[in-house]
Amino acid sequence: MSRLHIDWTACDGRGVCTELLEELLAEDDWGYPVARGGHREPAVPRPLEGAARQAVDRCPMLALRLVSG
Ligand code: SF4
Repeated sequence: MSRLHIDWTACDGRGVCTELLEELLAEDDWGYPVARGGHREPAVPRPLEGAARQAVDRCPMLALRLVSG
């Protein structure tokens, strides 16, 4: 199963990922993505892999990456 890695130094809180991955990510008070459940690098369930790949491709700051394991 892959995990979603968020590069906090690159993210500027534009929210594309939270729109695409509502089930996995919420926005904090400043609009930055936080994993539901509090994990820093949330596991991506198989049904959300397509949306996660889309989020990686569409992140304007190239702040998202899928990592295996
Ligand atoms: S899409 Fe990218 S820049 Fe926007 S909130 Fe998500 S990780 Fe941050």
